[in-house]
Amino acid sequence: MAETKSAIVVGAGMVGLATAWHLQERGVEVTVLDRHGVASGSSWGNAGWLTPGMAMPLADPSLWTYGPKAMLDPDAALSVPFRFDSALWGFVARFMAHATPGAWRRAMAALTPIDRLALEAYDELEAGGVHATSYASPWVIGFERERESRPFVHELRGVARAGQEVPLSRLPDGVRVPHLSPAVRSIWTLEGQRFIEPGPYAEALATSVSARGAKVLTDAQVTGVRRVAGGTEVAVSGHDTMTSDVVVIATGAWLPDLARQFGVRTRVQAGRGYSFSAPVAGSPIDHPVYFPARRVACTPYQGRLRIAGTMEFRGPDEPFQPRRVEAIVNSVRGLFEGVDLDSREDEWVGSRPVTPDGLPLVGRTAAPGVYVAGGHGMWGMVLGPATGRALATLITTGQTPEEIRPFDPLR
Ligand SMILES: Cc1cc2nc3c(=O)[nH]c(=O)nc-3n(C[C@H](O)[C@H](O)[C@H](O)COP(=O)(O)OP(=O)(O)OC[C@H]3O[C@@H](n4cnc5c(N)ncnc54)[C@H](O)[C@@H]3O)c2cc1C
Repeated sequence: MAETKSAIVVGAGMVGLATAWHLQERGVEVTVLDRHGVASGSSWGNAGWLTPGMAMPLADPSLWTYGPKAMLDPDAALSVPFRFDSALWGFVARFMAHATPGAWRRAMAALTPIDRLALEAYDELEAGGVHATSYASPWVIGFERERESRPFVHELRGVARAGQEVPLSRLPDGVRVPHLSPAVRSIWTLEGQRFIEPGPYAEALATSVSARGAKVLTDAQVTGVRRVAGGTEVAVSGHDTMTSDVVVIATGAWLPDLARQFGVRTRVQAGRGYSFSAPVAGSPIDHPVYFPARRVACTPYQGRLRIAGTMEFRGPDEPFQPRRVEAIVNSVRGLFEGVDLDSREDEWVGSRPVTPDGLPLVGRTAAPGVYVAGGHGMWGMVLGPATGRALATLITTGQTPEEIRPFDPLR
């Protein structure tokens, strides 16, 4: 196998940047290109949860009861626009076909090896000079009714059966958690997870990649990738054509635009989520809060609380839908005390790169020297560093690490 000396990474999200960083660790000269800027896709306003214990397949059997109800409720957390779009409905059909107990167990088994490496991969970045912090904290998980906790507890037991430690416990009745209203009656905690401020973390990673000698070019939209003698050629709007030994396509929800021609047939659908931040009265909330029945995730962010939710299957470049933010606000009003949901800042929409089978696409394409890294759906932040490390190993040694073996992009 010829030595890889240079690589172009397309996409400066968490996955592309982590891949760039690990290629540099292995002595590869790297250029990172992004059509907008660092973390301008899904890696900015997400919840920042590094929760391997919850990094499970998105399609689960409860979708068969929840999904049809959601279709009729414009404010439901799951949203698919009613319009003629055969590709979109084809994706929804394939996604639903994976919402069975057997498919969930298979996908969970495939995710478990990389889940188990996720936090240690963050330690490696931070020990290796990335000036950002992943914070350890217990998660607070709240339900209004005891019975609402059962599907969540059942799923976490499935994660534990697949081989992860999931230290989940219920607080005794009557114990109050500051800032949660008395309406939240069943309260659980989950240990062993971490969180980050995602945009600043990605920026710190990009700074480290630049400081180690990479060019990180923004406003650099890649319009074509092709194989040429001895390497790959990348067409970039506003720049001269660039060449390198290998190319990594890490373009999130836009991955098929460049990867389809190299045999990557799995549809990556934008599962759009929304977030905003809200001020908290008194002392700030210093731990994440999760309302699984409302499908809303909350994380400390810059002294405020970032509140995120919604899974909206639309195109990644469609306009922001203010109604989705209202739906999140309405779903958690009454669950908090002292969180001012009407003083919102940083309203944001981002596109999770969702695959029908719940597994990422990481590895070789049909063209030598062209690789893809993406399709992590809800879990690209927690799995980004471990993904980048494994892919850099594959590129520089030709050996596929076990933890990405199930994510073959040509499946
Ligand atoms: C509301 C919400 C909450 C979430 N919470 C969490 C969480 O708590 N934990 C977690 O692990 N994950 C979470 N996620 C998912 C996570 O954000 C994604 O899985 C992750 O950001 C994907 O990273 P990526 O690098 O693959 O893609 P992106 O971050 O989307 O990066 C892709 C980049 O490619 C660039 N690009 C696209 N096309 C081109 C082109 N042709 N040329 C050049 N550049 C291009 C884009 O500009 C973009 O910057 C959440 C997502 C949302 C929406």
